[in-house]
Amino acid sequence: MAHPKRAVVIGGGIGGLTAAAALHQRGLRVTVLERADSLQPVGAGISLAPNALRALDVIGVGEEIRDLAAWQGDAGLRTPRGRWLSRSTADASAERFGGPLVLLHRSTLVTSLAARIPPDAVHTSAAATITDPGDADRPARVSTPDGEWEAELVVAADGIHSAVRRSLFPRHPGPVHSGFTTWRVVVPLPGVEFAPHETWGRGCLWGTQPLKDGRIYAYAAALAPAGERAPDDEKAELLRRFGDWHDPVPAILAATRPEDVLRHDVHHLDEPLPALHSGRVALLGDAAHAMPPMLGQGGCQAVEDAVVLAHHHDDLAAYSAARLPRTTAIARQSVRAARLNLMSGRAGIAVRNTAIAVLSQAVPELLLRSFDSVAGWRPPQQPYASGSTPAGKR
Ligand SMILES: Cc1cc2nc3c(=O)[nH]c(=O)nc-3n(C[C@H](O)[C@H](O)[C@H](O)COP(=O)(O)OP(=O)(O)OC[C@H]3O[C@@H](n4cnc5c(N)ncnc54)[C@H](O)[C@@H]3O)c2cc1C
Repeated sequence: MAHPKRAVVIGGGIGGLTAAAALHQRGLRVTVLERADSLQPVGAGISLAPNALRALDVIGVGEEIRDLAAWQGDAGLRTPRGRWLSRSTADASAERFGGPLVLLHRSTLVTSLAARIPPDAVHTSAAATITDPGDADRPARVSTPDGEWEAELVVAADGIHSAVRRSLFPRHPGPVHSGFTTWRVVVPLPGVEFAPHETWGRGCLWGTQPLKDGRIYAYAAALAPAGERAPDDEKAELLRRFGDWHDPVPAILAATRPEDVLRHDVHHLDEPLPALHSGRVALLGDAAHAMPPMLGQGGCQAVEDAVVLAHHHDDLAAYSAARLPRTTAIARQSVRAARLNLMSGRAGIAVRNTAIAVLSQAVPELLLRSFDSVAGWRPPQQPYASGSTPAGKR
């Protein structure tokens, strides 16, 4: 009997775990090598749009995630004093995109994905490097401090600072600073009523979203040089920048402990890679096309990549051809969105806000329509029934 094809996944983030689950489901013998000592991600929320949920349906996780997540309710765009520039209803967005946009804690998503992979397939504290990308005649080779791995397929899901990308595409310039920094908090805030919103100020923004367990996920971004940090602590910095914004921002800040604030500078790949594969190695997620988070699509695209890769695991050129144009377009759209959302000139902001307010009155579905090609994506393969695995593949 032929041995099952071997796949080594470098990186146990959202992209790597989805790829491992999807490849395992197709009968490949999967190994995940994760550098950190656990799979637990940063303590923040993540929104998943209908395109990513449809990809998760392919591996039978979509329904579970819809169940564990908060579905986006009526939401909108505001100014720091609280004026609504545009509002959209949950029904309009679910109807337009054929399903909800959901928000959940990252650890919930990681736990659900990891449950789809045999436990002994995951190796933590396993920093991996490619020693040979392989070709049609020989397998790829990966090394970790504990030993060498050979595989017919290697998935490079090692994030924005991917060492695999650097070794396979040494002439690629790598990530650039996107010009801004972000803060994220998850806080319990019982009894505070609010409508989910994103609020755009001068060169900065704030977003508030509910999690299903009653906690609130809030995020903020502001133009700032790379590496800049608060002289005291990041809660104090948030208070200085956002403390006088509309409700519920002050209440969220009051409930936030300084040690719960995550701050990260944002980087992205400005120049697309020439291909998303080399030899027997396929890149996916941030390793392949890191983008600013303004469209909430970095993780969603990693999930899409993973199921498309599982579909084309015998033909990596077909994987590149299927994914490179779409991810390049969405990464560029995210860069443009960052410029628009974090505009800092008063005159430009006045024009932008008036245009949004007028257009969203005249054509209420306009903002949603701009998201059609992103959220309307469908995977190339049919979903397996929730929770099932193809016969004989377990
Ligand atoms: C502020 C902010 C908000 C965001 N919000 C959203 C959102 O709402 N929705 C959304 O879809 N996306 C969002 N994103 C983007 C999303 O977080 C990323 O696109 C996503 O995490 C990428 O997943 P990944 O698996 O490709 O990479 P990562 O999550 O970075 O995972 C890479 C993994 O590889 C491991 N690793 C690295 N090197 C090695 C090595 N040599 N050997 C072994 N392991 C290695 C790392 O430890 C890590 O676990 C946001 C990003 C930011 C910064």
